[in-house]
Amino acid sequence: MNIQKNRYQSGDRRNLHGGYSDFWLYLIFVIAASTFCILLAQLSHGSSLRVWYYKLNHKEVIGKGMEHIDQAGKTAGPAGNLLTYYRFQEFGASNPEEVDVNAPMVALTFDDGPNPEYTSRILKVLQDNYSQATFFVVGTNAEKYPDTLKAVLGAGCELGNHTLNHKKLTELNDVEVVEQIDGVDRAVKSATGENTTVIRPPYGAYDDELLNQLNVPVVLWDLDTEDWKSRNAQTVVDSVLSQVKDGDIVLMHDIYESTAEAVEILVPKLKERGYLVVTVSEMARYKGKELEMHKAYGEVGGTAQ
Ligand code: ZN
Repeated sequence: MNIQKNRYQSGDRRNLHGGYSDFWLYLIFVIAASTFCILLAQLSHGSSLRVWYYKLNHKEVIGKGMEHIDQAGKTAGPAGNLLTYYRFQEFGASNPEEVDVNAPMVALTFDDGPNPEYTSRILKVLQDNYSQATFFVVGTNAEKYPDTLKAVLGAGCELGNHTLNHKKLTELNDVEVVEQIDGVDRAVKSATGENTTVIRPPYGAYDDELLNQLNVPVVLWDLDTEDWKSRNAQTVVDSVLSQVKDGDIVLMHDIYESTAEAVEILVPKLKERGYLVVTVSEMARYKGKELEMHKAYGEVGGTAQ
C-alpha cells in the first residue's frame, strides 16, 4: 500500500489510470487474496490444512496425481479442481460432492473382529493412506474391545453386524435371529453411541425371509481372499491384486496377523493403481446407488439377488 501511495504522489498519470505497474499490483493483490481465501477454506475443513502443507512438500505425489485433476474437475466444477484432487487422493471418501466418481473403487471388508492388535494395525495403514474400510464385527468380540470399535469409527470406517455368536442365521427362528442381531448392536451402541449400518450374515447364508426381517442392507462379497485358509500375507495380496476390479467387495478377516500384514502391503498398492479404497456404503453412494434394506449386495454396481 505504501508503494502505491508513493507512486500517486509522483504524479505519474499513466500509472494512476491503470498502467502496467498497477496491473501487476492488482495481480499480486488478487493472488494474495485468493491464496488467503483458499487457506481459509482449508481451515474451515479442519485437518485439510495439514494435507495442503503435506502436498506442497511432496511434489512427486502432486505430479503423480495430476491426471486426476481434470477428471475430478468434471464432477466438482473448475473452481474445485485442486481441492478436489487433494480430497480425492488424500481423504479418499470423506466428501461425496468432491470425489472423482469415475475413479476405480474397492471396498475392503473385515469379518469376525474386532481384534485389538490386528484391527488396529489395519486401521493404521488405512489412515496412513487416507483410506477407509468396513468391519463386520462379532458381538462377543465387540463386547470385549469397545476401544477398538471406537477406533474403527474414529478412522472414518464403517461398522457392520456379523451376529452375536457367528451363527448361521438361516437355521435360527425369528426370535433367535433378533437376539443375534441385537446383541451386536447393543455392544456397538454402548461403545460408540452409533448403530451398525450394514450386515453380513456368517457364511454368507441368507434367504428371502431373513432379508425381509433385517432392517439394514445385507452385504456379501465378490472377491474372497480365503485369508483364513492360507494364513499367508503374500497369498492374500496376490489374490486381490490378480483379480481386483472396480466396484469389488473384498472379503478378509481382521483376526489373523497374516491379514494385517497383507493389508499393509495391499492398501498402498491399490492406491498406486489409482483405486479409491472406501467403505461399502460410500462406494455405493459414489456410484449413485444407495444400499437398500431387504436387498443383498455382492459387489457395488449389481445386487447379489
Ligand atoms: Zn465370519
